[in-house]
Amino acid sequence: MQDASLKRTAHADAQVHLTGGCQCGAVRYAITDEPIMAATCHCRDCQYSSGGAPAHALIFPAGSITLLRGAAKEHRYRGDSGHTVMRSFCGDCGTPLFGGSVGMGYEVLRAGSLDDPEAFHAQVSLWTDSAPSWHHVDRSMPHFPRNSPAA
Ligand SMILES: [Zn+2]
Ligand SMILES: [Zn+2]
Repeated sequence: MQDASLKRTAHADAQVHLTGGCQCGAVRYAITDEPIMAATCHCRDCQYSSGGAPAHALIFPAGSITLLRGAAKEHRYRGDSGHTVMRSFCGDCGTPLFGGSVGMGYEVLRAGSLDDPEAFHAQVSLWTDSAPSWHHVDRSMPHFPRNSPAA
């Protein structure tokens, strides 16, 4: 499902809201939908894929991300939720790109890959129980010890 959506070709008539790609330029994408949510995630999985920091991620309806160039390398594993989780990254430069829980109807985009990272505005912090003492947890916005109740 995720694979099929990512391999769609761009719709010429759809308005592109956001563009981005990896650091080396091998992977490029465009997004035609508004994000459902913007989250900062402190979970252990995000710490691994970011090199230690929390992940800053935009969540879109499944099928919102259209690949323009290249292909992200995918890593799948069983998450704490019991669902199969997919995370992808550029196989050449390692930039974290997309992710999601397979079959859950949404896909995740890592904000660091946006051409304009200012397009990310965090609305919620997740998995704060997993944050090491040196993470900054923004308690001025909704924050949850594990996943968001809505997710
Ligand atoms: Zn790359
Ligand atoms: Zn996470």
